[in-house]
Amino acid sequence: MTDTPLFQNVTLIGIGLIGSSLSHAMRKHGLVGAITVTTRSQETLDRAVELGLCQTATLDFGAAVKEADLVIICTPMGAYKNVATEIAPHLKPGAIVTDVGSVKMPIFESLAPALPEHVHLVPGHPVAGTEYSGPDAGFASLFENRWTLLTPAKDADADAVERVKALWERCGAMVEIMDAAHHDQVLAITSHLPHLIAYTIVGTATDLGDDIKQEVIKFSASGFRDFTRIAASDPTMWRDVFLNNRDAVLEVLGRFDEDLTELKRAVRRGDGEKLFEHFTRTREIRRSIIDADQA
Ligand code: NAP
Repeated sequence: MTDTPLFQNVTLIGIGLIGSSLSHAMRKHGLVGAITVTTRSQETLDRAVELGLCQTATLDFGAAVKEADLVIICTPMGAYKNVATEIAPHLKPGAIVTDVGSVKMPIFESLAPALPEHVHLVPGHPVAGTEYSGPDAGFASLFENRWTLLTPAKDADADAVERVKALWERCGAMVEIMDAAHHDQVLAITSHLPHLIAYTIVGTATDLGDDIKQEVIKFSASGFRDFTRIAASDPTMWRDVFLNNRDAVLEVLGRFDEDLTELKRAVRRGDGEKLFEHFTRTREIRRSIIDADQA
């Protein structure tokens, strides 16, 4: 595939794991003419320059988006309202604004109302990540063979949606267009609930007595280790996920509670048949994920 730039000027607002990975991927595949980076702290901005993640760097959000054909918001979702207010007066007519936030419905409250009518909003979410944060954490292949979900409004500009879709595809992602509310329900079960469970288990272990705590760390390979990796995820990002997807998370948490109670009963009653049947069913899910190349 010839790597002709899809956008002349792209601005990344926030340059942590996702922002820096986008910079690596877009530059690797020659998708942009020039990248401007803006972020909250001078320290992160300096590091982005040192890493060669951009041609231009500024702490001034307004100045950063003035020339942008595409603005990608890569901050935690709690910053969206402020970001939108700061960039709105400076956006070019016809500019596309997208984001990478993990919950999509709140965008229509936090971001959309503040933006001028002459720009196109195409919300997005790369379902890819690691437990690391900051500009050093990014790498070009993060999005390869992973899903990116776009959740534009029904009346969104079709050409803008196509261009954002093309950008992700050329970064190696598989792209699906999805209704925002549906996105939040699906992610509540596939991502948000597992994180909440991991945070709970690791928290429970942390509250154990000192002697047991040592053993937990020593023998962590027996299952606990996988939870500690998930529970090491960025606290700001995950706080914002639960603040923004409250209803969908509470809904799946209710179902989870019921299922847990059923399994608890099977353990208490020594109901081996029930446990075996349940574990056999869940094993099948793992096989389907491996077959879909998402393991
Ligand atoms: P990150 O590594 O912690 O980076 C966050 C960036 O946003 C940093 O440049 C930080 O600036 C900036 N920032 C933080 N608070 C800000 C504020 N109040 N105003 C302006 N800038 C602010 O985060 P990330 O993992 O890349 O996540 C970014 C977004 O991607 C989140 O919305 C998250 O939901 C989404 N996402 C994350 C993952 C994942 O696995 N991590 C996966 C999919 C989607 P300073 O360093 O200058 O303070």
